[in-house]
Amino acid sequence: MEVLYSSTRGDGAKITASQAILKGLSEDGGLFVPDHIPALGRPMQELAGRPYQEVAYEVMKLFLTDFTEEELKTCIERAYDSKFDTDEIAPVKEAEGAYYLELFHGSTIAFKDMALSILPHLMITSAKKNHVKNEIVILTATSGDTGKAALAGFAGVEGTRIIVFYPKNGVSPIQEKQMVTQKGDNTYVVGIRGNFDDAQNGVKALFNDRELAQEMEEAGLQFSSANSINIGRLVPQVVYYVYAYAKLLHGGRIKDNEKINVVVPTGNFGNILAAFYAKNMGVPIAKLICASNENKVLYDFFTTGRYDRNREFVLTSSPSMDILISSNLERLIYRIAGEDAGKTAELMSALSRSGSYEITEQMRGQLADFYGNYADEKETAKRIRDMYESSGYILDTHTAVASAVYGKYVADTGDTAPTVIASTASPFKFTRSVMNAIDSQYDALSDFELVDELSKIGRIKVPRAIEEIRTAPVVHDHVCEKTEMKAAVKRFLHIGESV
Ligand SMILES: *Cc1c(COP(=O)(O)O)cnc(C)c1O
Repeated sequence: MEVLYSSTRGDGAKITASQAILKGLSEDGGLFVPDHIPALGRPMQELAGRPYQEVAYEVMKLFLTDFTEEELKTCIERAYDSKFDTDEIAPVKEAEGAYYLELFHGSTIAFKDMALSILPHLMITSAKKNHVKNEIVILTATSGDTGKAALAGFAGVEGTRIIVFYPKNGVSPIQEKQMVTQKGDNTYVVGIRGNFDDAQNGVKALFNDRELAQEMEEAGLQFSSANSINIGRLVPQVVYYVYAYAKLLHGGRIKDNEKINVVVPTGNFGNILAAFYAKNMGVPIAKLICASNENKVLYDFFTTGRYDRNREFVLTSSPSMDILISSNLERLIYRIAGEDAGKTAELMSALSRSGSYEITEQMRGQLADFYGNYADEKETAKRIRDMYESSGYILDTHTAVASAVYGKYVADTGDTAPTVIASTASPFKFTRSVMNAIDSQYDALSDFELVDELSKIGRIKVPRAIEEIRTAPVVHDHVCEKTEMKAAVKRFLHIGESV
């Protein structure tokens, strides 16, 4: 059955999956949601033991119903290939009785690769299907991780270019090195003299610049966005929950139809929403456990029914979860509001006006599948140390938040059902925090000495992503003022030049 998409804030007008991928965000500010969640429609047993790419096809074809089999299979083949350092793509490792679903084997060793390696292919296919002749120009502001994952995904993909702005003094040295060494003629990385908000605001202004859009059109170009609200990022994330269940079944770790719990370290609410979609497709998932760090807006939301961003923003050792507005939560709100776009629009407008909103009792009643909790910095570090000492397995800081919250969940409820914990980054991505958690003496070492030490004590190979930046030449050295972003874009795209 065909799946169409409409806005969480709109009048119900429906568009196809490929149109939703091209648009990203709806004009009314809402997010695109499927008009129904398709049922998996086949026994899990049939998926057990199948390669990642095959499971990806079986899941994605149900959401992206206007893609042909050939189109979708080509996208999948191009995405989930040797960019990943294991054929399994998303291996499952058991530690202390829980199953860690490792989503960090792609080119930037974090879970954003799972979706950003396929998004460019979904986008150019969508462009072709909708007779868009223009080249797609991805424009992004980044505080570190997403920028690199998007660069890696779009680099070398024909028919696309990507421009990334980052705060020159606002990202870690390793993050900066990762970005400025990015290869590919279609990539452009610019540091701006300002903070992340300046970069973000500058990018928003460029998206809304009519004059620029006109000049781009004349040159056969158009902007698009790769941010996490695009359904082209959400759908590929549903895949690994189905795959993980099938894998556990295949390995005899669970019985047919046995319910599992899923724990997700959460920021923007995209990853856990994908798990929710998987549950709604029919994957036997009981609880969705939402783990936050000290920026615990979501924990407060699940325990009180009130979303409130008016609070101090805390910088933690799990920076990819340092978020006060979880944009993808809007899709859940829409759902528990009975797919009422008017109600959703009202709550979201309260959020942008006053920074908070409160859901009704009836809506709260529909959140029974979710459990929220959080781990503070001390608990997170202790979890890394304890896990290392008990099993030798090394967690990254984000995964450690999830693992600590899982411990709290079991203590609270006594529920010991088999549990999958989304492991969202390699420990090599946050080496200093991870090593300091294990032993504070490591702090004296340099970044790359820490990398080698982590490799030694964890008995894990240094990932290619890290090896590469040790030696890779800097190819992007552009820096500009925050007022010069438009000029930088035009220079890269060769538009509006007077000679
Ligand atoms: C982005 C990210 C998260 C948060 O995922 P959301 O989908 O935004 O909730 C967690 N961990 C890591 C390492 C990430 O990069």
